[in-house]
Amino acid sequence: MSIWKQFYKQSLTERLNRLVNGRYLNEKTATWLANNQSLPLEIADHMSENVIGTYGLPFGVALNFMINQKDYLIPMVIEEPSVIAAASYGAKLVRKNGGFTAHVSKRLMTGEIALLNVQTQNEANELTTWINAHKNDLLDVARSAHPSIVKRGGGPIDIRTHYYPQTEQTAAFFVLYLTVDTKEAMGANMMNTMLEAIDHYLNHYFHEHNLPYETLLAILSNYTTDCLVTVSTTISADTLTKQHLSGQWVAKRIALASQFAKTDTYRAATHNKGMMNGIDAIVLATGNDWRAIEASIHAYATKTGQYQGLTTWTYDETNQRLHGELTISMPIGTVGGSIGIHPSAKLAHQLLGHPDAKTLMTIIASVGLAQNFAALRALVSEGIQTGHMRLQAKSLAIQVGAQSDEVESVTEKLLQQPQLNQETAKQVLLNWRN
Ligand code: NDP
Repeated sequence: MSIWKQFYKQSLTERLNRLVNGRYLNEKTATWLANNQSLPLEIADHMSENVIGTYGLPFGVALNFMINQKDYLIPMVIEEPSVIAAASYGAKLVRKNGGFTAHVSKRLMTGEIALLNVQTQNEANELTTWINAHKNDLLDVARSAHPSIVKRGGGPIDIRTHYYPQTEQTAAFFVLYLTVDTKEAMGANMMNTMLEAIDHYLNHYFHEHNLPYETLLAILSNYTTDCLVTVSTTISADTLTKQHLSGQWVAKRIALASQFAKTDTYRAATHNKGMMNGIDAIVLATGNDWRAIEASIHAYATKTGQYQGLTTWTYDETNQRLHGELTISMPIGTVGGSIGIHPSAKLAHQLLGHPDAKTLMTIIASVGLAQNFAALRALVSEGIQTGHMRLQAKSLAIQVGAQSDEVESVTEKLLQQPQLNQETAKQVLLNWRN
């Protein structure tokens, strides 16, 4: 029997036992999970400020992922019902068609220093010429500020500039962009250290040469256009056949839904939010900065000048194949921040087999594509509420006070009601107890 068979129907203890039997977890970690000790207070106290406790979220695993011919169990931390189920379902259909193919085209981080008082295009050109002529000196300043990353084979790579002339609403800004190979780290801190060193060097130079320029700020950018991953899959229309719905009909409508998300911003935001349900959950599980990933991916969705849905689904009617593709920025790390500190983040990396940063980028992007695929498939056919209903009913049962041994029965009764709301749930619970 596959260890994943009926996994979702098992009790939490049974699931942990299966993971131990499958050698995904050892006994000690399973006990630690079962006893809910995932973030000891003394560690939490060092992670943030004014700590008064920890805040728990469900930690689950999505199944069926095959990425570049390798199987993965995906750790996900998320409070929203249906997300892990949908990701697993999307991945299951993709798996039947050979899985996901993914690659990282580049993995560099970008930082910027904004300069003031560069009033004319001529001044901007002169400053650009000076910066280009002194690029190696500036890169050396950055290298000296964080030599350990250079020793690891990374470090500052390039400098470029951009000029924003003054407008009626804004001052003129001259920007110096620094690209850095941060190796396995997301690199915010090392980038900021390097930028501040260049910032000091520039201010010193301007002062020495009586130039009116000064720096405004120096910081990493979360718009990471040089840190990109692409994932794709091709699905036979047959796979999408469900009851009375033809797979070809569903496939065509998924492609149309993808076009709609490129057209209408109202839909694009929701399309991307659905995809981020999966991405955020694995980003959070692996101890990465999910605000940075949210900022990065939503900024990347505006790259054409219009905020658009990021996945692209096309349907080849002749061969009856649906092709899905996603290119996104993904500035994650496998070291740094809380990754080596939070015990659950360490466990998430272990469950994934300790992938390097580029591999982790491919895994996260695949989760995003699976999530989007499952959502679109449901949206253009039966709608998403059918699948959500059971989980919604369960949440309602818990909200109105059903205890563990009551939840399943109250959920069943609730599903037989014409309407799902708190009032009905309270009544059903009361009837059940009487
Ligand atoms: P860290 O400051 O923790 O730096 C990464 C560390 O990992 C370095 O100390 C480095 O050691 C070590 N390391 C070990 N092995 C490697 C390797 N193979 N490659 C690279 N580094 C290695 O984290 P980051 O610089 O990555 O910054 C991420 C943190 O910054 C997150 O917590 C994020 O929330 C936060 N942040 C985010 C911002 C944003 O997104 N705008 C802004 C500011 C902070 P060594 O120094 O010896 O090389």
